[in-house]
Amino acid sequence: MTGTTGTMPTYLGMPAFPQAAAAAVADSQLRRNLTHATTTIRAKRAKVVAELDDWEQLRQAAKAIKDHVLANLGTYLPRLEENVTRAGGHVHWARDAVEANAIVTNLVKAANASKVVKVKSMATQETGLNEALAASGITAVETDLAELIVQLGDDRPSHILVPAIHRNRAEIREIFRQRMDDAPEDLTDDPPRLAAAARQHLRNEFLSAEVGISGANFAIAGTGSLVVVESEGNGRMCLTLPRTLISVVGIEKVLPSWRDLEVFLALLPRSSTAERMNPYTTIWTGAAPGDGPEDFHLVLLDNGRTATLADTVGRQALRCIRCSACLNVCPVYERAGGHAYGSPYPGPIGAILSPQLRGMTSPVDASLPFASSLCGACYEVCPVAINIPEVLVEQRARAVENQGHYPERIVFGASGYVLRSPRRLAAAQRVASASGRVLGRRGRIRRLPPPLSAWTDTRDAPAPPPESFRAWWARTRGGGQTRSGADSERTAR
Ligand code: SF4
Repeated sequence: MTGTTGTMPTYLGMPAFPQAAAAAVADSQLRRNLTHATTTIRAKRAKVVAELDDWEQLRQAAKAIKDHVLANLGTYLPRLEENVTRAGGHVHWARDAVEANAIVTNLVKAANASKVVKVKSMATQETGLNEALAASGITAVETDLAELIVQLGDDRPSHILVPAIHRNRAEIREIFRQRMDDAPEDLTDDPPRLAAAARQHLRNEFLSAEVGISGANFAIAGTGSLVVVESEGNGRMCLTLPRTLISVVGIEKVLPSWRDLEVFLALLPRSSTAERMNPYTTIWTGAAPGDGPEDFHLVLLDNGRTATLADTVGRQALRCIRCSACLNVCPVYERAGGHAYGSPYPGPIGAILSPQLRGMTSPVDASLPFASSLCGACYEVCPVAINIPEVLVEQRARAVENQGHYPERIVFGASGYVLRSPRRLAAAQRVASASGRVLGRRGRIRRLPPPLSAWTDTRDAPAPPPESFRAWWARTRGGGQTRSGADSERTAR
């Protein structure tokens, strides 16, 4: 369920990540579905990426292009507007979700349409457009297969590229049988049969829709062209059949020129679907009579992006090209799934992007920077080299400063006090060894008191050794200290 706040819909009622993840982890079917899907995509991606000797150079080129664009939006966005307008399109600027939804709703009403077809667009998920249209009596039909499954199941997307990754084919068959009016009586869970049923259902929607709504992967400032890459062909139907086309695009999607696009068309398919090139790449420039939509509107969306640009560490999240490679390698995502992130952007990129776009005021946003093991796998696979762990650490510091996280503050304060003095450290080690003997069983501690219980609630803690290294050294190497306590204390000061 989504609802609209000032700048962006928050998934209303979503608990903080630890609570949402605990419920997801307890669902063994969900874990099986996720593990199967992410393991398969991960292996395929690694294989096609390894085919390119210059992958790292491509990655660094993409990073440089995106950083250049983000530093020069003031140049490229007006250029994009000028060229879209020159080609017969109309450009609208939306400061936030409310403005974007109002612009789109008014355009749909102006076209006298009560139904729109949509091709997958993260930006409109971010703004909660479907709910806003429904409030005005307009039905939005998702046409991406996975999005359709999510919509028919009254569900929420759980992956950037495969929004129904949490569903297996038996579940999809049940959703189609119950919610798709024209589903065949004898529908099985055979994937080609499921795809054929969806194709038949959507064909009727495409042919009757007056308005199409899309996002865009890239916008070329130099010519005012928009680019959508996809695998199913539904996007091309949405982009070409309706009379009116409305594209809602984040301001960070602009690229200076076609030469820049070349780099991303090499990186994106291999990182996302593990394909060497996308089956469908649709590019259009403005509107022309007799050739696709007669009326084209581009809605350029800010919704927290310029505020994110002001953050020197966090702004790198705006390089993201939504390939989802970071989700597929993340051990936390693989176990918790996408819903636990309480945002249209799940996984590692969601953990750094959502708190920046929405602010860290809600429980879910304040918890997201902690939804990571900081293993760094996301950084390694990211085709635009976003250092996600670096941003997570920065945001954790901010969350601790801004919103408390008092247990951590107390623990780190006490640790700092102890570690500043070798005498205090030795005393603490003696206490830990003694408590380990009392609490430990076969080298493990099953339960600790709060706040340390946050660890032992879900896993054992190793019991401290019965003797510290210092004590062992003193006992076995002649009875002296490793270094005199007084010397060490002087150094520490
Ligand atoms: S952060 Fe990088 S790896 Fe993750 S979705 Fe964005 S571009 Fe892909």
